[in-house]
Amino acid sequence: MIDENCIFCKIGAGEIPTNPVYEDDRVIAFDDLEPLMPVHTLIIPKNHYANIGDNVPEDELGHLFGTVQKVAEIKGIAKDGYRLLINTGENASQSVKHLHIHVLGGGLMPRPNDQDWGSAATNADKFYSDEDK
Ligand code: AMP
Repeated sequence: MIDENCIFCKIGAGEIPTNPVYEDDRVIAFDDLEPLMPVHTLIIPKNHYANIGDNVPEDELGHLFGTVQKVAEIKGIAKDGYRLLINTGENASQSVKHLHIHVLGGGLMPRPNDQDWGSAATNADKFYSDEDK
């Protein structure tokens, strides 16, 4: 279940070299190319699923989520806490169409409610003028 046109499948198969944070037979974790936080690691299943809505078997999901705390410990953010992000589909601006969990940490992050979630957000008044909407 590999998509030969998928960049994350190529990373999972070892065709694109990466520096794995963690790897086993089903998942690989590697640092994001454009980190948003001091720690920004992606965890992907080696099998291809476009996103979390792509009929992912529960055991696959369980294994994927079971990797989260391992990665957090390896990266030294387990104690202070971290944020998981899974962009899914167009409205979430998912850019790589292979299921991945962002693990973000290494510093205090604002609550999602306080962030600029775009002009469609219910808090858009804080960030956008009426002309932008
Ligand atoms: P998303 O918008 O949730 O699909 O996130 C895709 C993430 O993958 C972005 O944060 C990118 O910076 C990251 N990314 C894309 N290509 C690579 C790559 N080859 N190695 C590491 N991270 C990547």
